[in-house]
Amino acid sequence: MTARDVGLPARHPAPGLPQRVTIWEVGARDGLQNEPAVVSVEVKAEFLDRLASAGLRVIEATSFAHPAWVPQLADATELLERLTRRDGVRYPVLVPNERGLDRALATGVTDIAIFASATDSFARRNLNRDLEAQFAMFSPVVRRAAARGLGVRGYVSMCFGDPWEGAVAVDQVVDVGCRLLDLGCDQLSLGDTIGVATPGHVVALLDGFAHAGVGTDALAVHFHDTYGQALSNTLAALRAGVSCVDASAGGLGGCPYAESATGNLATEDLVWMLDGLGIDHGVNLDALIQTSLWMADHLNRPSPSRVVMAHSAGSAGQKRCE
Ligand code: MG
Repeated sequence: MTARDVGLPARHPAPGLPQRVTIWEVGARDGLQNEPAVVSVEVKAEFLDRLASAGLRVIEATSFAHPAWVPQLADATELLERLTRRDGVRYPVLVPNERGLDRALATGVTDIAIFASATDSFARRNLNRDLEAQFAMFSPVVRRAAARGLGVRGYVSMCFGDPWEGAVAVDQVVDVGCRLLDLGCDQLSLGDTIGVATPGHVVALLDGFAHAGVGTDALAVHFHDTYGQALSNTLAALRAGVSCVDASAGGLGGCPYAESATGNLATEDLVWMLDGLGIDHGVNLDALIQTSLWMADHLNRPSPSRVVMAHSAGSAGQKRCE
C-alpha cells in the first residue's frame, strides 16, 4: 500500500470557537533572530514575499534592535527598502527604543512592536534595566508611534514561567500588560517564552485580564512548543475568545532559553488545526510548507514542524509509522 497524500484534515467544526483567526507570522523576525545561521537580505526578502503569497496577512518583518544585539537582522533597513509591500498585508517591525523607532519610521513602517518583560530578571537580562524602568524606556516610543497612527503591539515575554524566577504570578503579568495598554499599545501578545504554559494556566491568565477589564480583542497569544503544549494552549485561548495567534513558519527560531530545536509554534501546525476546526485563516498550507522547506535548505537544518515533517514523509511515498 502506498502512502496517501497528506492533503488537509477532515473538517469538524467545534462550538465555542472564533469563526476566523488572524495568524501573526513571526518567522522572519522572532524565527530568524534566534537561528544560528544568518541568511542574506535577498533570501529574507523572498521569504517575506513567499509568506504573503501563501496568504499570510500580518508578517512581522524584522527588528530594529542594535545590530550588535541581533546580528541576524542587522539588515533591517535594507530589507524594508527591498520589500514590495502588498495591499492588505501588514509588515510590523520590532522597535526596542527611540533610536530604533527613528530608523523604522525612515523606512515607512505602519506597525511596530515593543518587547517588554513580565519579570524583573528577564528585564534586567534582555533590556538591561529593571521591570519598572522598562516602562520609561517604552513610553516615548509608544507615544510617538501612536501619535502617527501606527499600530503598536506590546509583547509581554515570560508570561508563564521565567528561567530565573520560576512560575510567574498571573497578577504580575496582568499588571505589566495593563501598563503597556495604558502607555498606548493597541494589542498585547502574551508570550510563553520558555514554553512551560499548560492550558489551565492560559485560562487563568486570560481570566486575570478579563477581571482587569481587558477583553480578548486586545490580546494575542504567543506559544512555544518546547514541551509539546503549544497547540493545546492555543485551543484553550481560542475557547476563551482570543482570535489572534502568533506562529512561525516551519517552527523557525528554536528556543532561545533552552537547548531545544523546538520553540515557536509552527505556523503549519496551527493551520492544520484551524483547518480541521473549520476556522477561517486565509493561508494556503501547501504553499506555506513549500516556503518552509525552501527556508530549511537555506538554514541547512530540517524544519521541526510536525506538519512539514509529515508532509515531507508523505511526499517520499513509502515511509511508515511504526
Ligand atoms: Mg517566540
